[in-house]
Parts: sequence; C-alpha cells; structure tokens
Amino acid sequence: MELHGGQIIGGERSALSGEVFHGVDPSSGEQLNPAYFEATADEIDQALRLAESVFDEFRKTTPGQRGAFLDAIADETEALGDELLKRASAETGHPLPRCAMERDRAVNQARLFAGFVREGSWVDARIDLGDSGRIPMPKPDVRSLMQPVGPIAIFGASNFPIAISVLGADTISAFACGCPVVIKAHPAHPGTCEIAAQAVIAAALKTGMPAGLFSMVHGKGNAVGEELVRHPATAAAAFTGSLGGGRSLFETASNRPIPIPFYAEMGSVNPIFVLPGALAERGEEIAGEFVGSLTMGVGQFCTNPGLVLGLKSEQWDNFSKSAAEKVGEFVPQTMLHAGIHHAFTSGVEERKKSSDLHLVGESSRAASVEKSEAACYLFETNAEGLAANPELAEELFGPVSTLVKCSEPSDMEAFAKTLSGSLTASVHGTEKDLEEYAGLISVLEKKAGRLIFNGYPVGLEVCHSIHHGGPYPATCHSYFTSIGTRCIQRFVRPVCFQDWPQSALPPELKDENPLEVLRILDGEYTRDAV
Ligand code: NAP
Repeated sequence: MELHGGQIIGGERSALSGEVFHGVDPSSGEQLNPAYFEATADEIDQALRLAESVFDEFRKTTPGQRGAFLDAIADETEALGDELLKRASAETGHPLPRCAMERDRAVNQARLFAGFVREGSWVDARIDLGDSGRIPMPKPDVRSLMQPVGPIAIFGASNFPIAISVLGADTISAFACGCPVVIKAHPAHPGTCEIAAQAVIAAALKTGMPAGLFSMVHGKGNAVGEELVRHPATAAAAFTGSLGGGRSLFETASNRPIPIPFYAEMGSVNPIFVLPGALAERGEEIAGEFVGSLTMGVGQFCTNPGLVLGLKSEQWDNFSKSAAEKVGEFVPQTMLHAGIHHAFTSGVEERKKSSDLHLVGESSRAASVEKSEAACYLFETNAEGLAANPELAEELFGPVSTLVKCSEPSDMEAFAKTLSGSLTASVHGTEKDLEEYAGLISVLEKKAGRLIFNGYPVGLEVCHSIHHGGPYPATCHSYFTSIGTRCIQRFVRPVCFQDWPQSALPPELKDENPLEVLRILDGEYTRDAV
C-alpha cells in the first residue's frame, strides 16, 4: 500500500500541505517515509462537521448492520496482512510476534463487540408501565434506554500501535453504539495508523455505512489534540496515554463553554503484595514470574508492576536475591521512541541518587543509547524509604521496579492507604494469608480497578467482565473501563420516553420486544413481550 501522509476525512485523503513530521525507527533513529502533515484547524473542522452530519444516519442503523460493520473491520484488518505488522514493528521497535498478537487482539475485540451489539441488551432497556387509574395520581408510562452521544474524539497510546490505536476498543465501542469517530493518529506510529485506517474505510464501504463516520487527523504536539477536544461537534473524548497529557486534555474538555465527558486511561504503579504464606511456598517462582511481567514489552505497559511489597524475613531476602538475578539476565531492548527512552533513563538516574534506594539488580549487558535501548533495574527500600520518596508510587514507564521490605504487617496496609488510584493491585497469598490480611485487601478494593490473586498485572483478558480503569490518577472517571465490552457505556446516555405511542418508540422499548433484548419490565429482568 502506498502511504499518503495526509489527513483522512470521511474516506477521502486531504491535500498535502502544512507542517510535517515523520515516523522514526527507534532502533536506528532513521526517519521513515512518507512525511506526515499536521492537520489544520480547517481540516479538523471538516472532519468533525462531517461526523456530526452523518450521526443521525449512523445511530439509526440496526444492531445487525453495526454488527456486520464490526465483523467487516475484523476481516479487513486480517486482510491487511504483514504490511500492518511490519510497519508497526518499524515504528515502535516491537518485535513482529508482538505486533501479530496485537493485531489478533484487535480482530477478536471487533468480533466480540459485533456479537455484543447484535445481542442488544447493552442498551439497558427499562419499562415501567403506566396506570391511568392509579389513586391519587395517574402513573405515566415511563421507558428508557441508552443512546449514543455523537462524534467521539479518540487518542491512542504509543505502546499499543494496533490494539489501542485506530482499531482499539475506543473506536470499536464508539462504532458499536452508533457514534462517529475522529481519531488523532499517534505521532509515534503514523504509518501504522494510516494502514489500519484502510480496514475501517473498506469495512464501511462494504457494509454500506456512511463514509463520514470515520476520520483520522495527524499532529505532533498539543495543538491538534486540543482542537479536537475543543471543537463544538465533539460530544465526548477518549484518551489513552500519560497522566500529564490526560490531565491537560481533561481540563480542556471541562473548560469548554459546553463541557464534555473526557475519559482518560493513564498509567499507574500497580503494586504487588507478596504475603508471607506465598513467600514461603513459592518465593523463588514468584520472583521469576514477577521479573517476566516487569520486562515484558520492555516494561512499556500501563499495568507494569512498579512496586513489590513483602514482610522482612529470610524468605524475603531470598526472593529479592532471586529477582535481582533474573533482572541481571534481561537483555536490553529498544524502547518505543527516543522521548520515552530519555524519560526512562533520566528517571532511573534520579532514583539512583536517592540514599534510601539500593540498586539490587541491573541488566548485566549495557544498553545502547543510539538504539534507544532500556536495561532493567530493580531497587530495594523499606517502608520509611517508600514514604520518603513519594515518586516511587508514580509510574516510571519502562522496566524498573522497587522492592519494599516491610518491618511490620501493618506497614503494607498503611502504604495501601496512601496509594493513589491504580489500574491494578496484585496479591500473592494463601487462604490463611487472605484471612490475616483482610484489612489490606479491603483497602485495595477501594484503590484499584482490578484485583489479581496469585497472578501478575500485565496481560489483559478482553472480555465482558474485565474492568480496566481505577480511581484517579489511573483514570479521570473511575466508573468506566477502556477495555472490554463495558467500555461502550462511555459513549451513551440514558434517554427516557414518557407516554409515547408504540409506533414512535425505539424497537428495544416497544411492547412486543422485537429484538428480544433483556429488559427490566416493572422491576423484573425479562425478555418477554409486554
Ligand atoms: P502521551 O504522550 O500522553 O500521548 C498520547 C496521545 O495524546 C498522543 O497522541 C499525544 O500527542 C497526545 N497528547 C499528549 N499530551 C497532550 C496534550 N497536553 N495536549 C494534546 N495532546 C496531547 O502517552 P504515550 O507516550 O503515547 O503513551 C504512554 C503512556 O500511556 C504511559 O503512561 C502508559 O502507562 C499509558 N497507557 C495507559 C493505558 C491504559 O489503558 N490505562 C494503556 C496504554 C498506555 P503528542 O505526542 O503529539 O502530544
């Protein structure tokens, strides 16, 4: 496929003009062709006006039509073949098998949503039948369901060039409920975005969807993203990325004359608590698995385990020694881009300066700066050191973690109470540990979006029950997830119909329930007709 470098506005490619930037191979610093053109305010306006103009047509498509569209996106993504994978690998340094894994995740996700939207019960239809004879006041007929909000502005993250980008859950869930999308291509993988966009465009054409439901604009720097969020036609925005970027755009969304919901999924520290029973039974095994989780994808996951806490003991010292040895074996690998590499290496240098932190493990092979390679680092401290270095409880993106040797069991609960919101918290323990540390677990339920038992945070199951979110700063809205079918809830709002005639009601609210969705009818869940 010949790459173009311009904006894609409703399936049409814009003229090439304005400021340019390039994708870069982080392993060599080589600029990749073509040049990408930053979107102008006019182009952003065109994309959002077009999205707004097709919203009514798109939201009125049937669940079957939208399911077919999502299935076609999955098929067209597969049909892109190796070209998508090779470009993603060149722009991010991810090995090809990792890119293939991401592509498969995106394909499966589109098919999961296709089934979910066809089944239809996600609209949360509720019916309370009227009673004109009720004394002292007649009871109205009240019915409600979820409806799409309008055009969605989407920002993907650099670390998932396929699975959390153009083909990510944000785009797919917006389409599933009937919202058009304008996505900002990530400037660190613009070519991957352009190739992936072809799958969406082809699927829309194949299934008779309005072309204006999808546009993609480019930009390096903040201006394009801010304009997308500020534009009056944008009804909501979804962002995956850093805390700084998410917070800044959240404020832009809130400061608009008409504020809009801004759903930011950001990074977190993802603590692991290794309780004494687990340490005694499987300390060495956990050490190896933890380092595997820490170094997967060169530590570039929002769920990367940044802290590991356990109780001072001989077993803990063995655990620490074993984890440090494994860290030593990690062969340095190329990070996503030079900026992330610089942030990582300077963050590690800062930690090395702290007298409370001891570097207990480090890759034995040196990392190459020219290739933007990261070595792995493991620090150790105690509860006092953790309290004295609050930055340890913040994400440092890359393969670095800190072990915290606690003197008292209560130190772990005390730390958990100070923990900011986190995407995950993991607990290694036995049934007895869980009883003894019930206070800690209770605190963690209030701090994390996903609690993992005897497992590791990296690697998410994309399914109906997953929750990938958490209290701030993990996200801006702790109720919502950015992965799994529940993420459709970000782009809908309840609309209530009072005393409307049958002929004018949406199908899901009609008496005969033609789509056979699960509804709450006078307080009872049922698929029955009224
Ligand atoms: P990023 O630097 O925040 O960038 C994300 C996107 O937002 C880019 O398109 C970026 O464009 C734009 N952006 C950032 N700040 C902006 C601002 N102030 N105004 C307007 N646009 C802005 O994040 P990243 O480096 O791509 O991704 C790594 C981060 O994502 C890590 O912190 C990781 O933990 C997090 N992450 C979270 C999840 C999750 O599900 N919670 C998943 C994956 C990654 P420009 O670069 O052009 O500014």
